[in-house]
Amino acid sequence: MNESAPICPKCESEYVYQDQTLFICPECNFEWDPTEPDEDELIIKDIYGNRLVVGDKLTLIKDLRVKGSSIVLKIGSKATIKRLLDGDHPLDCKVEGYGDMLIKADKVKKA
Ligand SMILES: [Zn+2]
Repeated sequence: MNESAPICPKCESEYVYQDQTLFICPECNFEWDPTEPDEDELIIKDIYGNRLVVGDKLTLIKDLRVKGSSIVLKIGSKATIKRLLDGDHPLDCKVEGYGDMLIKADKVKKA
């Protein structure tokens, strides 16, 4: 096993292997060249245009109703970014007092 092989960016398989300069995923057959610049790098910004990265502390600037539940995250709640995702709820956060939530970037500001 090649310990430096990353997980597959398409299917998150851990069984990626390296063939010369390419990484190859045996599960979805995705191939990529790790020396190419990463064009898929996620640029996610808060309401004021500050770039957000994993580990940033956030403050909610609006009350947020959690989809499919009666929970409301109160304005001013603090959150920490655990992961950045593609899509319209790009912030996978741990919200103090509530737990893990997916949040839209325009509902927060960098603390
Ligand atoms: Zn894959």
